Amino acid sequence: EVDVKLDKAIPAVQICIRLRPMLQWEKSDGYTHSAMQLKEDDGTISLKEEGRNRQFRFNRVIGEERTQQEVWDMSGIEDVVGKVALGFHATVFAYGQTGTGKTHTMEGFNYEHFCGSAPSAAASRPRVKAKTTPADQLGIVPRAVLTLFDRVEAMRRTDTSAVVRVSFLQIYNEKIFDLLNPSLSVAQRETGGRGEEFAGLRLRWDAAKRHFFVENLFQYECASAEEALQHYQTGIANKQVASTTMNVASSRSHTLLTLTLARREEREEAAAPREVVSQLSLVDLAGSERSVASGGMGRSSTRFHEAINVNQSLFVLRRVITALSKREKPEAKNEIHVPYRESKLTSLLHNSLGGNSYLVMFACLAPADRHDDENLSTLQYASQAA
Ligand code: ADP
Ligand code: MG
Repeated sequence: EVDVKLDKAIPAVQICIRLRPMLQWEKSDGYTHSAMQLKEDDGTISLKEEGRNRQFRFNRVIGEERTQQEVWDMSGIEDVVGKVALGFHATVFAYGQTGTGKTHTMEGFNYEHFCGSAPSAAASRPRVKAKTTPADQLGIVPRAVLTLFDRVEAMRRTDTSAVVRVSFLQIYNEKIFDLLNPSLSVAQRETGGRGEEFAGLRLRWDAAKRHFFVENLFQYECASAEEALQHYQTGIANKQVASTTMNVASSRSHTLLTLTLARREEREEAAAPREVVSQLSLVDLAGSERSVASGGMGRSSTRFHEAINVNQSLFVLRRVITALSKREKPEAKNEIHVPYRESKLTSLLHNSLGGNSYLVMFACLAPADRHDDENLSTLQYASQAA
């Protein structure tokens, strides 16, 4: 537990809307642009709902022409990461229908470009991206990693105890897969196509530290941003393997990269130094589309269970955020219940969401009018969370 107060200059919960541009193939297929109106200056977006105009307001609204660098600058996440270096927790996640740019916003990059050569573990992987990505394409995750290490390196000049650990996992059908465990990814591969046989890692509660943890999850201590990004890239390659060999649909699963900063704080006289831990969680959520659950699929089908689990965990996530935003309000009483335990994802985010923590949510939108219904439900989700 960190016993410093939140800096009120940075809201505890911030919602950013990002609209992606029309893709080339959408243009060629004759998609028409939505009539939605987005105003970056006053953070509003309006959209027709059953003929009536509905307006929403958020902390930030980011238009379709914005580059990855501009999105990073506008999002204010740099300040949030700065707070993590000071001992606060933070969570950043991307929400939206499949195809709206969540992964582009969070990952958005290709390792080869950044570090010059591919890590060996990825050498035999299926081709993830054919082309290397220009530096400007770096998404939130690599930029956050770079920023955190900048701060930590500055800190190490006076405090050599500071270490950063990284872990990376995927939650699919309420099962936890370690994206960084080399032997596990082999085990996952060997069950190829029979994903049901892999039980997933166990989620446990540590009563002493009062937090959830994943049993046997790999955590790597990283000396530099490059090392952390190398693990990140290996995990992305493993995610690709899981999707091809185990049918783990990445659009139906959440991925969570966690950076943990630990420092030893010397205490007066004979008291043993205590460990101060802060955590930055970066989450690429499963697609929010609801249509799959209502399509004519059988109740026993895998697709049905995927859809139910995704809907359930996104629903719990919103309730958790709503509870947290309520707690921020001046009229709030302390007893607001936060339903962390009701999904794997929110249990895992318990550390970095509750108490002294910052949250930034990206709600991603697609530009065509045929996306209006899904965009509307994304905007509703985001405004209920705020
Ligand atoms: P999601 O993760 O939400 O399913 P993706 O990030 O995979 O969506 O994006 C879907 C497609 O749109 C990808 O081909 C991606 O490269 C492209 N895309 C997304 N956002 C942008 C953007 N801001 N600029 C250009 N292309 C984008
Ligand atoms: Mg994606």
